[in-house]
Amino acid sequence: MRPFRPTLRFFARWALPWSLLTAACTPGFAAPPGAAGPTPVAAPAESPPDPPSPPHPPALPPIRDHLIPWTAEREALTEAYLQAHRTAPLSGNPEVDTRMVPRAIVLHWTAGPTAASAWATFAPDHLAGRDDLRAGGDLNVGAHYVVDRDGTIERLFPDDRVVRHCIGLNHLAIGVENVGGDAAHPLTAAQVAADIALIRGLAARYPIEVLLGHLEYRRMEGSPLFEERDPAYRTTKPDPGAAFMASVRAGLTDLPLAEPPKGR
Ligand SMILES: [Zn+2]
Repeated sequence: MRPFRPTLRFFARWALPWSLLTAACTPGFAAPPGAAGPTPVAAPAESPPDPPSPPHPPALPPIRDHLIPWTAEREALTEAYLQAHRTAPLSGNPEVDTRMVPRAIVLHWTAGPTAASAWATFAPDHLAGRDDLRAGGDLNVGAHYVVDRDGTIERLFPDDRVVRHCIGLNHLAIGVENVGGDAAHPLTAAQVAADIALIRGLAARYPIEVLLGHLEYRRMEGSPLFEERDPAYRTTKPDPGAAFMASVRAGLTDLPLAEPPKGR
């Protein structure tokens, strides 16, 4: 029998296709661009892998900007308010002094029926019709956020603006007003959920140390965060209710947010 001698034709028909087929099934085979094939094996890294990137902060919930204009008059009134009430010296630069690094969040209720009525109350620069606050200055009250009874969140002021909403804490506290709170407009589960989501997002962005309800603010007296020169300038507040605060706190137990000290 004639011994087998591979010919050029044999190589072209059998040997070459077979070698390509076996190569394609071998790890490390580089398939042509666009062709389906095994993933190339990466060469061993010479440097240690990068450390895992920090997790993204929780996203803020949907927020509708409905900003109250920051007028020169409002800035002047805010500067005057801080000059009269803060115990720490101001810088003398209103643009700096009327800004803050948020370190506390205070929850409120509006005791009014709508977000629009809250906006209309807070929009003027000058305080009107609040005899309990008149002695504290002409700056109008306000809040950074208003949460409607369906959970819709509106932003009225940037987070870093000083807004008058809580005696002793305005220089470092974000104020969140919840629409309602009276018998005809009780606060809702949607507001609890919205407040929790908002606080979670804010706490990821700022060094928030304390979460309190307005009804708890006098328990902050004695804290280094609390600054009020006039020991007689105090109010008694019921908002937003102990039950609402308990519900919001129940959704934030994983965050290191302090409560105001008890015992006052
Ligand atoms: Zn309040």
